[in-house]
Amino acid sequence: MALTVHQFACLDDNYAFLIRDDATGLAATIDTPDADAILAELDRLGWKLALIMNTHWHPDHAGGNAAIQAATGAAIVGPKEVTRIAPLDREVGDGDEVRLGETLFRVIDTGGHTLGHIAYHDAADRIAFVGDTLFALGCGRLFEGTPAQMWGSLQRLAALPDDTTVYCAHEYTAANARFALSVDESPALKARADQVFAARERGEPTVPTTIGLEKATNPFLRAPLLAPGEPHEAFGAVRAAKDVFKG
Ligand code: ZN
Ligand code: FE
Repeated sequence: MALTVHQFACLDDNYAFLIRDDATGLAATIDTPDADAILAELDRLGWKLALIMNTHWHPDHAGGNAAIQAATGAAIVGPKEVTRIAPLDREVGDGDEVRLGETLFRVIDTGGHTLGHIAYHDAADRIAFVGDTLFALGCGRLFEGTPAQMWGSLQRLAALPDDTTVYCAHEYTAANARFALSVDESPALKARADQVFAARERGEPTVPTTIGLEKATNPFLRAPLLAPGEPHEAFGAVRAAKDVFKG
């Protein structure tokens, strides 16, 4: 693989992702949930940070931008909405390319959780960083967008190859699994939920996941099978049920 991904937990339930283009040694961080933790980890790895790649403006994703840029001189790329809390060196949107050494990322508009949310897709390595859009067995809350917008965003991610490795920004999977089991009786989901609960008991992460696994078991991607109406309406109904679920 031409891209090394170093994932670690930070804050309450965030994941930080430090990535390195192996050909050139250039490194980037996907979002900046915890500046101190990310800088310490860069130091430990001996990686030189060239780029900060934001998915959306929320403070647990862009809040460390200024401190990390001050310490490393890394350039910041992200969607325009990030300028609500911090300046960007380069604004990117749907279809734009972001290069880290020899690794090429394509920006995918995945608005819904926030209006300007984006994902970064490295097709050559079959890797996607999806922020708070798609979670293992879940999806982001609709803070700013509509169900139709989020459904469209999820469909764009679902259209990636099944073996795409998906890095989501939070460890929410056990709670997501409890909700999923309340709306979906599929045996594949039951089997996966058992694995998730066991992994969390052992303190193991359940991220990354894959597009294929999410298509098979994620109740938000399976919404048209679980609720009536047009697909985006079914998705909206499942999302609304999750918002009030007390598991
Ligand atoms: Zn968020
Ligand atoms: Fe978040």
